[in-house]
Amino acid sequence: MVGLLLRSLFSSSTRIISLSHPCLLKPSLINPSLYNRLFSAAAQASAPIPTTYLDPNSLRNVAVIAHVDHGKTTLMDRLLRQCGADIPHERALDSISLERERGITIASKVTSIPWKGNELNMVDTPGHADFGGEVERVVGMVEGAILVVDAGEGPLAQTKFVLAKALKYGLRPILLLNKVDRPSVSEERCDEVESLVFDLFANLGATEEQLDFPVLYASAKEGWASSTFIKSPPENAKNMSDLLDAIVKYVSPPKGSLEEPFQMLVSMMERDFYLGRILTGRVTSGIIRVGDKIHGIRSTDSGVEKVEEGKVVKLMKKKGTAMVLIDSAGAGDIISMAGLASPSIGHTVANLEASKGSFNFVLLL
Ligand code: GDP
Repeated sequence: MVGLLLRSLFSSSTRIISLSHPCLLKPSLINPSLYNRLFSAAAQASAPIPTTYLDPNSLRNVAVIAHVDHGKTTLMDRLLRQCGADIPHERALDSISLERERGITIASKVTSIPWKGNELNMVDTPGHADFGGEVERVVGMVEGAILVVDAGEGPLAQTKFVLAKALKYGLRPILLLNKVDRPSVSEERCDEVESLVFDLFANLGATEEQLDFPVLYASAKEGWASSTFIKSPPENAKNMSDLLDAIVKYVSPPKGSLEEPFQMLVSMMERDFYLGRILTGRVTSGIIRVGDKIHGIRSTDSGVEKVEEGKVVKLMKKKGTAMVLIDSAGAGDIISMAGLASPSIGHTVANLEASKGSFNFVLLL
């Protein structure tokens, strides 16, 4: 029934390939609550979804950067809720028990949320200098960043470390002044913090474009963000729409051609008891499908070396709080795959043709 409804609702002229993935429906075409329920249902199902690679122009890859306690987890929960994800507990993104124990985020995670026909891949960034290599890999995977700063405290040391990396990689951050609901936070205070962030950017060698950063005001706790300063918006404006719109507006879509052969740089690695090694990264070019023959490669002093040859067993994306199986993915998207046991972080996974010299292969390493 729902499938039929979706098919009849969805226009064939859309540049998105799938006809049946709820995340790809433009909410303007359907009732938003139906959209949200469909998204939740898809996230829960963990079943393969037919051909789902997206036009890179409808993707946005964004790192979320914050000093510990400035509200990153609360913000992500609110964004996920607004986009229809079922949140099983308060701190959805902070789900590793060790992290919860320490109250810090120690591993990077990617989750995607649908917004007005776009898919926003949000990447959680570790704040600690101890995770320097990981921070580099995260900022290398995205085209934009949200810098969450407690409007009372202002930017702190941890923010500086990750921010330096983000600026170095050419990202143009969106500044989100959080905790605006606190009695001590006035408009003057927000202006002050904005100046501090400007100085910080300048000291870190930001370009003119990076210095011209958009600013939003938020209370993640109360579940709203606003593009203008306000202490408490009216009930019907207590939502995250301004922030989601700002991501679509200010973050560039990923570059990468769907026509070129498939390549992905491995940026994260996990182990699953049943699936073995799970490799996560941004697809740099091409399209990958379950069953495709691929190989892992790495660069050595003597050139490019094949690490392993195999095929894609599973493709996955975290949508909301659930890992969802997908059957294909295209350039620009951030995905996880199972199938190869040997490649690790920094290696490239590529279409098998890559080693056969049938095209100009550019190693991503
Ligand atoms: P994280 O360490 O950056 O992930 O920060 P959390 O999201 O865990 O938030 C740290 C603390 O700040 C928690 O007690 C939150 O309830 C609180 N908090 C987060 N956002 C806000 C906000 O907008 N306003 C207020 N007053 N408190 C907030």
